[in-house]
Amino acid sequence: MSDSIRFACTGCGRCCTGHHVPLTLAEARQWALSGGQVIVLIEGFIADGPGIPADQREHVLRRSYPVSCGAGQLHVSVTFAAFNPGRCRNLDADDLCSIYDNRPLVCRIYPAEINPHLPLRPENKDCPPEAWEQGPELIHGKLLVDEGLRALIEASRQADREDIAAKVAICEALGITTSALKGNGFTAWLPDMAAFSAVLEQVPTAVDAPWSVHVQDAELTAQLHQHGLQLTADTPLYYAFIGF
Ligand code: SF4
Ligand code: SF4
Repeated sequence: MSDSIRFACTGCGRCCTGHHVPLTLAEARQWALSGGQVIVLIEGFIADGPGIPADQREHVLRRSYPVSCGAGQLHVSVTFAAFNPGRCRNLDADDLCSIYDNRPLVCRIYPAEINPHLPLRPENKDCPPEAWEQGPELIHGKLLVDEGLRALIEASRQADREDIAAKVAICEALGITTSALKGNGFTAWLPDMAAFSAVLEQVPTAVDAPWSVHVQDAELTAQLHQHGLQLTADTPLYYAFIGF
C-alpha cells in the first residue's frame, strides 16, 4: 500500500447516512436542544484485565471512568452519539449539511481516524473511489498532513477525556448502568430525550451506582466471575446488546 493518501470530499453524503455520530457533551446538549435523539453506547473493561487491548492501554484508560461492579471495578467508556439509523436529520434534499458551520467535531474529522491506533484505510470508509484520487495529500507516511485536522482530532480526544466523568454521572442519574465488555460488544440505549435534557441541564456528580456487565459467552462469564464482576445475561428490556 502507498504511504501517501490524497483526499477530496465529493459531497456524496454517504457518511451522513446510517451512522451514529459521536458527540462531545456540549454537542449532545445542542443536539438534544434542537430536538434530536441521542443514542448512548457503552463498553467496559478491567484495567490490565479482560477487555483492555494491551496496545491501546493508555488511550482507552484516559477516555474511561472507573465504576463499582459487584465486588470488582469496571472502567466504562461512554459514547453519546446522534442517533442516525437513516439519513441524518441535518442532511438536506441536496445532500448538503444544513448545519455545516456548526456541525459536530466528528463530522469535520471524517474520514480521518480519531483513535491514534487506527491507521486510515480508505477501503473501510464510505467515500467513493474518486474521493481518494484527487485533492491534497491527507496522509504522508503515517503523518496526517493537515494541521487543522490534527487540531480537531486532538480537540475530540481532549473532550473524550474531559467529558467522561460527567457522562458516567448522567448515565447513572438516568439508570443506565449496564455495560458490555470491550471487544465482546456494547450496550445501546435510547434515553427519553426530555429526561436526558433535564439531566444535562444540571450535570450531577457521580453517585457510585452499582454497574453490571451484559455477557452471554460462557467462557467469558467464567473469566469475569473470577474478577468479582456483577454479570447479567437476561434479555434486556431497556437496552440492546450489540455483540461482535
Ligand atoms: S450533522 Fe451534517 S455533516 Fe454531520 S452527519 Fe449530519 S448532515 Fe452529515
Ligand atoms: S462519504 Fe466521504 S466523500 Fe462522501 S460526503 Fe462523506 S466525507 Fe465526503
